[in-house]
Amino acid sequence: MTATDTLNLERPAPARPAVLPEMPTLIGLSREEMGKALVEVGVPERQVKMRVSQLWHWLYVRGVSDFDHMANISKDMREILRRHFTIARPEIVDEQISSDGTRKWLLRFPPRGAGRPVEIETVYIPEEGRGTLCISSQVGCTLTCSFCHTGTQKLVRNLTAEEILSQLLLARDRLGDFPDRDTPAGAIVPAEGRKVSNVVMMGMGEPLYNFENVKKALLIATDGDGLSLSKRRVTLSTSGIVPEIYRTGEEIGVMLAISLHAVRDDLRDMLVPINKKYPLKDLLDACRAYPSLSNARRITFEYVMLDGVNDTLEDAKELVRLLKGIPAKINLIPFNPWPGTNYQCSSWEQIEKFADFINQAGYASPIRTPRGRDILAACGQLKSESERMRKVDRMAFEAMMIANHGADD
Ligand code: SAH
Ligand code: SF4
Repeated sequence: MTATDTLNLERPAPARPAVLPEMPTLIGLSREEMGKALVEVGVPERQVKMRVSQLWHWLYVRGVSDFDHMANISKDMREILRRHFTIARPEIVDEQISSDGTRKWLLRFPPRGAGRPVEIETVYIPEEGRGTLCISSQVGCTLTCSFCHTGTQKLVRNLTAEEILSQLLLARDRLGDFPDRDTPAGAIVPAEGRKVSNVVMMGMGEPLYNFENVKKALLIATDGDGLSLSKRRVTLSTSGIVPEIYRTGEEIGVMLAISLHAVRDDLRDMLVPINKKYPLKDLLDACRAYPSLSNARRITFEYVMLDGVNDTLEDAKELVRLLKGIPAKINLIPFNPWPGTNYQCSSWEQIEKFADFINQAGYASPIRTPRGRDILAACGQLKSESERMRKVDRMAFEAMMIANHGADD
């Protein structure tokens, strides 16, 4: 500022441009909520049921993201909808494809209220005969599991039901998983054979700390007249928020995965600190009570293999003892390193020994092959753009990967 640039305090400072009001969305609303929203903008009551089912079909069976493509809705009605609502997809900041076909999207969502825009990651993992989408439930995570990169991210807010669901819609768009626009209105569109056949709530965040929004989104994702994912193909992973595990069984009914990682309370207190609030006994009681468990509907227990920390045969033995009576499978996850961590992945030899022991005890115990490591898309590596790795960190990380697992992994 120069000497002549004095501030004129008599004139009020120009008003800051008002933040444009957000358009309410139709994505992520239950049928009742959508009906109410339509009535509020003047859709006649007697039409509401029909309009809701038309919209439901366009949004969730056909994957339309523009009102103009809703061929059997009149132009006037489309105009009303466009003036009052949005059905747009989130902004894609970045899309990366790993050498193994894994895809990772960095998505930006607008601020909610006074907040800032936020960025989250969604990962698609193609496999023989199926494809799994890994969805985030929060920006960052308020929990601080000591081996998890996401837990070091400060910025935290819950994602809305729309934001959770739109990760699935966007992945289906990008993978060409919705029917062609030319498919005639009302045509029956098969739910089988989709690229996204499975969904796991294993991205950023603790889904059970955002229960209501996760529930809304998953009930829509599994709605038989819409996105039609089978509840058996949707898995929610939690670090063990016991009261909400009971609610998940009663109110959502999807498959459950528990981030167990340790078999003694003293160690689990350190690795998964929420254990201090909900210790192993309470957690396993909640698992035993999970509805309709059977050999065909088992709980997955995730167990990250940390060198010299939780990977002895004693641990394996105790694991088998703890899970007795629970229809379970155990997912051994080789630790995915990230810059700044002090943990190392167990050796393959040790992981195999551990796996053999629990196999012999009668548990399926697949070792989860790390996917998408070259694009930091593997478990516990998700962390958004706002804290993107510096180049030096990336080099250190790559060196660590090679040291741990060999260059061709
Ligand atoms: N917050 C939820 C879901 C997201 S994490 C939960 O904790 O269950 C998905 C899985 O990846 C969890 O089992 C988590 O413990 C595991 N994980 C986190 N960081 C990891 C890392 N660095 N290497 C391997 N697995 C990790
Ligand atoms: Fe949060 Fe899950 Fe990471 Fe723990 S493992 S910090 S609960 S995202």
